[in-house]
Amino acid sequence: MLNVIIFGPPGCGKGTQSKLLARRFHLTHVSTGDLLRHEIRKESDVGKKVKPFVDNGLLVPDKIVMRKLYHEILKHSDTRGFVFDGFPRSVLQANALDKFMNIYKVELLLVIAIWVEKEELFRRMMGRAEDSGRSDDKEQIIDKRLQVYHLRTKPILDHYQQQNKLFFVSGMAPVREVAGKIASLVESKLP
Ligand code: ADP
Repeated sequence: MLNVIIFGPPGCGKGTQSKLLARRFHLTHVSTGDLLRHEIRKESDVGKKVKPFVDNGLLVPDKIVMRKLYHEILKHSDTRGFVFDGFPRSVLQANALDKFMNIYKVELLLVIAIWVEKEELFRRMMGRAEDSGRSDDKEQIIDKRLQVYHLRTKPILDHYQQQNKLFFVSGMAPVREVAGKIASLVESKLP
């Protein structure tokens, strides 16, 4: 199985790049953000529970995210592999993913971290705020999401560095160029 994690701060373009990568290699794109927003739109019990976290730029509790994620993985058990987008986002989630992969005897091919300067991240998220219709694309919440990323999510990089799975790509270049670099990296790691 070909499993890839696209990692990076909010606004780095991981959603766009994950979709392009999934299409190119016939993989299943799993965005925990999309899954959670879907629950919020449905006004399901899960949706009602997670809405205050998402709206305030906070991480949704790991337990809820893991349950949604396992469900999604098992739904696509016949896939060639997954592109994880916005997941894992805490050390606990990274450990849980490791365990899950061990149990199902599947491997993580690599983690691609997309780097973009902070001012650019802010500019992009503010720029897309009108079109995205996302309740969390507003100044104060964007700030919060960036803080949460630095505090809770960035430390995961050590976890994957130790596994020799971590690779960096600059996200400052045009979308196609970034996509090309990511695809080459994936190709270079194929068994
Ligand atoms: P972005 O990376 O731009 O913040 P996402 O769609 O990945 O966009 O995430 C939006 C929000 O959804 C996050 O701020 C958080 O509240 C929630 N979320 C998404 N993925 C996770 C996750 N793996 N763990 C906890 N919360 C998550």
